Amino acid sequence: MSEQRPAGAQRTGIGYDSHRFEPPGPLILGGVPIPSDVHLHGHSDGDAAAHAITDAILGAATAGDIGEMFSDRDPANENRDSLEMLRAAVARVNADAWRVAHVDLVIVAERPRIASHRELMRERLSQALGVSPGDVSIKGKTNEGMGWIGRGDGIACIAVATLIGAEQTNADRSR
Ligand code: MG
Repeated sequence: MSEQRPAGAQRTGIGYDSHRFEPPGPLILGGVPIPSDVHLHGHSDGDAAAHAITDAILGAATAGDIGEMFSDRDPANENRDSLEMLRAAVARVNADAWRVAHVDLVIVAERPRIASHRELMRERLSQALGVSPGDVSIKGKTNEGMGWIGRGDGIACIAVATLIGAEQTNADRSR
């Protein structure tokens, strides 16, 4: 449901996701296949980075969450391309007259090292988001060897998305 708001209104949303490692590879993260002996286990392709961003975007628009849009009980979502899910979330908020302005993502993992994959991730994610790579920030952190991430059990991702309200038409308002 879209409410009346001035053009240029801003909203911020946060998203979090985690997936555990399971053999075999490759691993898909930020839309990029990364050579590995493990993958991120999940009903979809397990791309925790794309999932965290999806939830941040939906959260900013108060439009629910990824689990509501893509049930893990629906066989259609099995091994689903997470960039496709991200594009669907962007389309949902666009339909409510929001556009994505910026995304900031933190990937917390002992492995893989993010730096060498960062630019391709920014490219893939920005394409799905409909922004330029300069509007997508990605930071890789280890967990300093602590806890489940430190043991190398899996990956956690945290994302913040900023949306800007487009001018709404009367048709938007009557939706
Ligand atoms: Mg997930």
